[in-house]
Parts: sequence; C-alpha cells; structure tokens
Amino acid sequence: MESPHGVYRIGDRGEAVAEIVGKLQRLGLLTGGHDVYDVYDEATAHAVRGFQQQRGLMIDGIVGPQTYSAIDDARWRLGDRLLTYVPTHPLSGDDVLALQAKLQELGFAVARVDGIFAADTQRAVTEFQRNMGLPADGTCGPSTFKALQRIRPMATGGRPDALRAREAVRAAGPRLSGKTVVIDPGHGGFDHGWEGYGLRESDIAYDLASRIEGRLGATGVRAYLSRGRDQGPDELSRAAFANETDANLCVSLHTDGSMNPEAQGVATYFYGNDLHGATSSVGEQFAGLVQREIVARTDLLDCRTHAKTWDLLRRTKMPAVRLEIGYVTNPHDSARLADPAFRDVVAESIVVAIQRVYLPPEQDAATGMLRLGQLTV
Ligand SMILES: [Zn+2]
Repeated sequence: MESPHGVYRIGDRGEAVAEIVGKLQRLGLLTGGHDVYDVYDEATAHAVRGFQQQRGLMIDGIVGPQTYSAIDDARWRLGDRLLTYVPTHPLSGDDVLALQAKLQELGFAVARVDGIFAADTQRAVTEFQRNMGLPADGTCGPSTFKALQRIRPMATGGRPDALRAREAVRAAGPRLSGKTVVIDPGHGGFDHGWEGYGLRESDIAYDLASRIEGRLGATGVRAYLSRGRDQGPDELSRAAFANETDANLCVSLHTDGSMNPEAQGVATYFYGNDLHGATSSVGEQFAGLVQREIVARTDLLDCRTHAKTWDLLRRTKMPAVRLEIGYVTNPHDSARLADPAFRDVVAESIVVAIQRVYLPPEQDAATGMLRLGQLTV
C-alpha cells in the first residue's frame, strides 16, 4: 500500500484525504452522515484522535506517517492475506500481531509481539508447522491459519517473551562494563523540536546525550549516539542503528513543549500496546527506574510513565525508553534545562537507572541514593 508522504489535518482536502477517510470508515471509526469524503473535517479529526488514543499514539488528530501506517495496519485480520517474511520490507499489521500473540500463547516464542513479521516470527511459524505436520516453510497460508484456529493453548500464564527478556537481563549480570547502550538525542538537522526561552530541544538532547556518553564511557559501557550534532535521521533509521549495535538498552532523549505555558514536568515512555497485552516488561521496568531517579533528584513535576507504540520503541529489539525531560515552553522547566549543573543531575539519574536495571534485588539501592562512584563496573 502506497503511503501518502505528508501530514494531513483539518482543512486539507484531496485524494490522500479521501483515502484516509475511506480507511477510517472501513474501520468503523467514521460513520453516520459523513458524506464529504475528500475533506479533512472536525469529524475526521475526532475519529483520528480516538484511533490514536486506542493505539498509544500521540493524540493530535493529525495524520502523519506513523498514524497513517497504524491506520493501514489496523485493517488486517488474521487470514486476510498470506503472511510471509520479506527481509527488505517486513509485513506489518494487526493480523501479524494476532498471529504472534497466538504463537506465543501456544509456546512458540517470538522475540516480541510487535505486529512486524520478521525473522523471529518466521522461525516460530516454521516450528509450529513442523509440530503440526504441515509443510514447514515459515509462510502462513490457509492450512496454517486453519491449524492455528483449531489448536488450543496447552498451558496458560507466564508470557514467554517477558520471561526471556528478564532472563537476558539476569544473564547479562550486574557489571556495567562490557554492556552497550545506544543514546538517541531527539530531532536534529533541520528539525529543532520544541523551542522556548532561547532553548532548542535538539540542542539540549544532544548535550545531555554527550554528558551521559561521558559518564557511561567512564564505567566501561560502550555508548553509541544515534546521530551527530547536526544530523536529524528519521525514527526508523535510529531504530535500525540501535539494532545494528546489538545494544543492551536504548535511551531516547527529548524535552517536551506545549502551547500552554503552564504545562510542565518529566515523563518516560516504553513500548506497549493494549491490543493482545503486548508490552516490553523490561522496558516498563527501565522506564520506571529512570522516571523515579529523575523525580527524586530534581524538582520536575512527575508526569509518570506511559506505554506507547512509537517507532523508536517498537522497532528496537532491546528494551528502549523515551524521556520527555521538562517543557522548554514552561518558565520553571526551561530555567532548569538551561543550567549545566541540572543537566549533569539528569545525566547521572539516567546512568544510575541503567545500573539498577542490572542489579539483583538484594544489591539494589533505594531511589535517589546510588551515586556514580558506587556503580558496579
Ligand atoms: Zn521531541
């Protein structure tokens, strides 16, 4: 399916808008008297907001590339099409998500229930087919769909992917040295992100990334930045970069902003999707640690942790979090963000949180207590 390369919002019209409206109607999100088919009107924006909320996307009522692809994914039901592994262009959709959830439930492990048909899904399908006495070609066609419908899970409970992710953390051990962490400074290049009080989100993110990189390097962690100072790769390239480094963790750095100058605070996001209960359990734990360390060490308002399906969180193979550290559009937060000493505190909080992911419960410290000199290197 050709994706319209653009951003569509209220007031827009034309062929691409007609296509979006059509898709929303087929999903049952836009009904009853919506007969102006090629105009992005209030009803369209309302339907898009509802869809975004349901899917853990940024709720802005605007169709950008990510919302577009999520709308596109949503139309597939398991059995609608042949599912096979295309390395150059992996299939994605709700049918893949349903397939992965079903395989997982049956004990055929996929790396993550993320709606993307990659090599791990192909392996799980092949394994399932072998067990069912079907031709084991890794491609889901009519006979495999039928077998999937027929068979009941043998045991329930204990999501295998979550258990495996936790086991990987345990096996990695508490020492920081030898681990690899990707730090992803948000925006960059022509994209400055939010701006306010003489601050630019892209600059703050890069500066923070350098501070974290220095501290991690001192503990023996291989730290990679996903972009250079003046570069602004897209989210998919950043995720691909993180995957190539085979990192243990990925931390994406942003600051927030708002038209409302009173909006303020820090929030951390991890991969999660209410559909089929697909959540990165280590990602959620990591997000909680980062969020609590920053809240304990600074006076930023606690805007808590949330599950999202943003590409950087969904397409990275390792546990990943995205931080929105304060609002550059808020007087209090921007004053903090402008202060190099504050940035050091945030960098230290993040490094400590990385350490705590790997500390077994008996070695873990209370939030806000662990110092850089006490890390297990
Ligand atoms: Zn941002």
